Amino acid sequence: MATIEDVAEVDVVVVGAGNAASVAALTARQQGARVVVLEAAPVALRGGNSAFTGGAYRFTYRDVEDLKALAEMSESELGSIDFGTYTEEQMFDDMARMSQFRCDPDLTALLVRNSYQTALWMKEQGIRFYPAVGRQAFKVDGKFRFWGGLALHINGGGQELVATLHAALERAGVPVLYETPATGLLHDGGAVRGVRVSHQGAAHEIKAKSVVLACGSFESNPEMRARYLGPGWDLAKVRGTRFNQGAGLKMAMDIGAAPYGHWSGSHAVAWDLNAPPYGDITVGDQFQKHNVPFSIMVNAKGERFRDEGSDFHSYTYARYGGEILQQPGMFAWQVFDQQVTHLLRSEYRISRITKVTADTLEALAPQLEGVDPEGFLKTVREFNAAIDQSIPFDPNVKDGRRTNGLAVDKTNWANPLREPPFEAYAVTAGVTFAFGGLKVTQRAQVEDTSGNLIDGLYACGEMVGGLYYHNYASGTGLMAGSVFGRIAGASAAGA
Ligand SMILES: Cc1cc2nc3c(=O)[nH]c(=O)nc-3n(C[C@H](O)[C@H](O)[C@H](O)COP(=O)(O)OP(=O)(O)OC[C@H]3O[C@@H](n4cnc5c(N)ncnc54)[C@H](O)[C@@H]3O)c2cc1C
Repeated sequence: MATIEDVAEVDVVVVGAGNAASVAALTARQQGARVVVLEAAPVALRGGNSAFTGGAYRFTYRDVEDLKALAEMSESELGSIDFGTYTEEQMFDDMARMSQFRCDPDLTALLVRNSYQTALWMKEQGIRFYPAVGRQAFKVDGKFRFWGGLALHINGGGQELVATLHAALERAGVPVLYETPATGLLHDGGAVRGVRVSHQGAAHEIKAKSVVLACGSFESNPEMRARYLGPGWDLAKVRGTRFNQGAGLKMAMDIGAAPYGHWSGSHAVAWDLNAPPYGDITVGDQFQKHNVPFSIMVNAKGERFRDEGSDFHSYTYARYGGEILQQPGMFAWQVFDQQVTHLLRSEYRISRITKVTADTLEALAPQLEGVDPEGFLKTVREFNAAIDQSIPFDPNVKDGRRTNGLAVDKTNWANPLREPPFEAYAVTAGVTFAFGGLKVTQRAQVEDTSGNLIDGLYACGEMVGGLYYHNYASGTGLMAGSVFGRIAGASAAGA
């Protein structure tokens, strides 16, 4: 176990110990650099948000042969799945559409073009993948059909991802110092030459030729959420780590780094109303409630407030949290009947859940705590009557089975609530990460507010600004962390 004295002077300091940091540290080490990783958390809570993930990993593929190079699949498995394709054009289009055409085209192209090769590199480091059926594809007429990439997930989710990357760091001889937050950058006016840290209650300095900031965004910090995301966001629950307090962003901007991207935007999902204020690693991502497209979602007035079926959950779920936060009381209920409950994800079957059931809608209504029962029953009556039932329900495509004439129509997957028992789940906003970050170059080097490069300073992961605006396509965060982690690590090592 390395001591703080052992690492008083190194080539590369990596701040953070999640996916982006671990990938950057491994890459820098593979280039021959002497590297140290600094983790604010204790070892049991290491790995930031990366440790909380379900392991969705977005990358391009031409055909099933590309996927077979990443995941072992039996012939019968292969025969029962239609993976389709996910070309560079498709992924780039998704990024552009999700961001309302604001994403930085050069950074986005870098992400997209490197995504498949990066998945292969991750496999070389020991990461295992499996087909994400049930989450990104449903069985219809005996076959799973993927609707838009995300064909493979990381085996064992975030916990296994972090354990595998840390095992690789250990094999590569990269020390990780726990409970050692970076508190500032050593900056001589021109270049960054190391970091100030707090270690076991004492202040220290670590000198380095370069520093890679990979210590997440500010989503865990209620003061910064209120300041940047807006009123009410301080009350959102945090889905993941408590350690992403925005320290990396602050220390970089303190020496003139340029903020970049959508600083008043964030990724926030529907999250169990009674989940704890920060993530619980024993539950991981399972407080999320992503099956909004098969539900009707009502607020305290018993009214629907969004088109639940506007798109597949992958393309809408990151907005649900913000929309729920705007509702009276900052909560909503998702309601399902037995026509769709078999499609619900595993997160709807955990024990720590805010759920009510009833055999009639009249018996369900008073159980929806905080909701006007009459308003709810009226909403359901009008919703059920407005569905065009001539169009068949199909969860694998945007089926066009919709309502007509409502103030808020549901434009796909609209089923009348009629088959008991009815199930309802209470949710609020769970914030995942904030979209604002730093301006980096194609080499992941940080720019200052005048557009000049900051010598010796690199950033990756959630700290990279300019990729996400307004919305987000699921599985992009981990891939962006890996892609920019590899670039930052190589650049910091002087490659
Ligand atoms: C519940 C949940 C589920 C998710 N599911 C997915 C998914 O399936 N697929 C996907 O692509 N994305 C998912 N995401 C998003 C994903 O987690 C992030 O995009 C990604 O993990 C960010 O990686 P990162 O390395 O930049 O940050 P993190 O993994 O958050 O790592 C930041 C690190 O910095 C450390 N740190 C913070 N401050 C300091 C400091 N001052 N000094 C030293 N260390 C510090 C933290 O302790 C942590 O180790 C999910 C997020 C959550 C919360």
